[in-house]
Amino acid sequence: MSNEKVETLVVGGGQAGIAMSEHLSNNGIAHLVLERNRIAERWRSERWDSLVANGPAWHDRFPGMEFENFDQEEFASKERVADYFVAYAKMIDAPIRSGVEVQEARKMDDDRVF
Ligand SMILES: Cc1cc2nc3c(=O)[nH]c(=O)nc-3n(C[C@H](O)[C@H](O)[C@H](O)COP(=O)(O)OP(=O)(O)OC[C@H]3O[C@@H](n4cnc5c(N)ncnc54)[C@H](O)[C@@H]3O)c2cc1C
Repeated sequence: MSNEKVETLVVGGGQAGIAMSEHLSNNGIAHLVLERNRIAERWRSERWDSLVANGPAWHDRFPGMEFENFDQEEFASKERVADYFVAYAKMIDAPIRSGVEVQEARKMDDDRVF
């Protein structure tokens, strides 16, 4: 197994991980996002089927992109929300590696390396 080094590692490709990736990229910080399942998996498969966003589309979104072909006053379904995050990650070219679970974070001898 080869070793890979990256300046910043983000655990989880959900809403927070994608937002973090955008900010890191905007600041020129090399990073990698590891997601154990698929992007926004919680929305995709870990909620009840009838779940919709708790705010209208104009509100429950990132500043950088609207829900496309969608009434902005409507409440997006969980699948729609998951699709939105997938599209957003693609738009910002987020370096997300899916299907990789982080099992442990351990400090190395060098204080600054995990
Ligand atoms: C019932 C319910 C309804 C909600 N409704 C709304 C709403 O309408 N609007 C809204 O804005 N927010 C809503 N929220 C809050 C919503 O959960 C958060 O806004 C958002 O999903 C949080 O994003 P997150 O990235 O922090 O966490 P999550 O969405 O939980 O994402 C975490 C990601 O990390 C991955 N992960 C976890 N552990 C590991 C590991 N060890 N290694 C690799 N990957 C890992 C998971 O697979 C997951 O994809 C709701 C929450 C709940 C529970």
